[in-house]
Amino acid sequence: MAEKINTAKDCVHCGVCKKNCDFLTKYDIVIGDTGRLKELAYHCFLCGKCTEVCPIHIDGRAEVLNLRREYAAEHMSELEDKYKGAFGEKRNYKFRNWRHATEGLVFFPGCNFPSLFPKTNDTVSKIFAKYGIGTVYDCCGKPVAELGSVADEDRIIEEIKSKLQENNIEEIILACPNCRGHFGDRLGVKVTSVFAKLHELGEGQVYEGDVKFFIPCPDKELKQWVDEIRPFINGNISYVEGIQCCGLGGHAGHIEPELSQGFADKFKANEQGQVFAYCASCTGRLKRNGFDSIDHILTKILGTDEKPDTATSYVHRMMTKYK
Ligand code: SF4
Ligand code: SF4
Repeated sequence: MAEKINTAKDCVHCGVCKKNCDFLTKYDIVIGDTGRLKELAYHCFLCGKCTEVCPIHIDGRAEVLNLRREYAAEHMSELEDKYKGAFGEKRNYKFRNWRHATEGLVFFPGCNFPSLFPKTNDTVSKIFAKYGIGTVYDCCGKPVAELGSVADEDRIIEEIKSKLQENNIEEIILACPNCRGHFGDRLGVKVTSVFAKLHELGEGQVYEGDVKFFIPCPDKELKQWVDEIRPFINGNISYVEGIQCCGLGGHAGHIEPELSQGFADKFKANEQGQVFAYCASCTGRLKRNGFDSIDHILTKILGTDEKPDTATSYVHRMMTKYK
């Protein structure tokens, strides 16, 4: 990843970020327009496309997140009211369940993967159980962190670290690129993707055919997950271009529904054909917004052929508490 050394005050107003972002285009601003950007910080999808394209390496996503943090420091009760669903469920994750934690290594699927792909989640969980690997259910804290609550973000990371230490866990297996991007190296344990671990264990089947991936926001620059999925693909890998986000990121979909819908509409208009994702949230959001030709690649590797269940996802998430 290119080092991001400049900040918004160094912006030269070249307009490249605006050209690549439907949100900035809608409001006719660039990342350097910090006054207006602060007013609109919660309309940004936090997708990181601006970060990827800025020729002088300004991290636009981080700039917007900092503006949200400033706002949250002054207006927390207003935010708690506006985003009561997210705070209510994720601040102290309601469906947390660590009773099957195993020493050494655990599967941590996050909240959205088991919510949208319950059958595939159970399949993975059963495979890992054969190797003595338990499954724990928790939220990484990214949804609350993206609302700008630094205190909650730090506390949630510390709580997860404590759970890992209590159970002598040295490695966690993740199914969600958002969890992985959010954790970074903050947990102090080895972090592995579900694909890398399945491959290491000799589990899963090879998908025969070409694959066009929609890259989720946290993996935009590194495409680390693609490298880990590649052993399961017997065909060419290509990428969806020109669509910055699935429409779910940064809680912006609620206040910018037209922009959110517009991303799915671009898929349809561009006749992308069959597309694959490795983020449950992307798959679910695009399906919810009417783009049906998207599948989670893990459902092919494990032969579950499951579609994201957007209608009863909350129920599936709730059920993880009792597994
Ligand atoms: S691409 Fe970078 S330098 Fe150009 S307007 Fe956007 S933030 Fe400023
Ligand atoms: S993070 Fe995404 S939505 Fe937000 S300004 Fe950057 S490109 Fe636009």
